[in-house]
Amino acid sequence: MPIVNFIDGFTSAEKLTALIEALPGGGADVLRLDRLHPLISGNKAFKLQPFLQRFAASPHRRLLSFGGPFSNHLHALAALGRAAAVPVVLVVRGYAHLPLTPTLQDCADWGAELVFVDKKTYAGRYDPQWQQALSAEYDALVIGEGGAGEGVTGCRVLATACAGYDEVWLACGTGTTALGLAQGLSEQKLACRVVGVNAVADQGALVRAWHQQMPADVDWRVVEDAHGGGFGRSGPELLQLIERLDQQGLPLEPVYTGKLLQAYEQAVARGECRGRVLLVHSGGLQGRRGYGLPLPMGARADVP
Ligand SMILES: *Cc1c(COP(=O)(O)O)cnc(C)c1O
Repeated sequence: MPIVNFIDGFTSAEKLTALIEALPGGGADVLRLDRLHPLISGNKAFKLQPFLQRFAASPHRRLLSFGGPFSNHLHALAALGRAAAVPVVLVVRGYAHLPLTPTLQDCADWGAELVFVDKKTYAGRYDPQWQQALSAEYDALVIGEGGAGEGVTGCRVLATACAGYDEVWLACGTGTTALGLAQGLSEQKLACRVVGVNAVADQGALVRAWHQQMPADVDWRVVEDAHGGGFGRSGPELLQLIERLDQQGLPLEPVYTGKLLQAYEQAVARGECRGRVLLVHSGGLQGRRGYGLPLPMGARADVP
């Protein structure tokens, strides 16, 4: 299959609509992007899509990107490389002599080449000169960390799942996914409010960016108090919520989707949620292993 069509094959409007199910206990629906594809989970496939289009038109042989040792983005990219038979190079913030995290072990099992760099070198990941040098050395199209920037357009299709809902809630890191979804809402003239649950303690950076970039006709707000002390931080309440929803059949993880559900439940308890709500499960379940949580069935298909 041509690489450019690869993601389109499982991200069509009908496929997305079929991923909507009721939240255990009711009151909202969940868009289960964690069930998108046997290997490529969550929102990352959408953010990668525009890069694949550029890759198909480029002379390069490989895809290259950057991330930390637990990165969902690297995991999705390696899975994509495996599924679409494209060689992938991952520039990892970390050290080659340390044992591989489960995330990186998967990536290695799927055939990705891991290049370890120290923190200081990694800080240069946005430097165009370093990116060009890497592109030349590995004959690779370079994808920015997390698929930010260009990745926005690939997320527009997510808006099709929002028809008939008054609010769509999603966890935000860079906010790329939510921004793309909002562009899709605007294009399709869907009146659905975007509620971003910020997983990062960013001193208002996300809100400032959205004031600049959000389509004028899309209503939105950001929940700022759900990060639980910062990116990747988790306390006992969050872990209890994850355990409770595990038992109800909705697997979550502590970095993004657990915080989304926590923020949503708090809003419901305060009587702030009205109308029909769609919660976006943005995947990332592979990251549970970094917290000693078991991987739910089907979250990572075994390498054939
Ligand atoms: C990467 C990620 C996000 C954040 O996406 P952004 O587009 O950076 O806002 C949310 N949820 C999960 C599970 C992720 O892996």
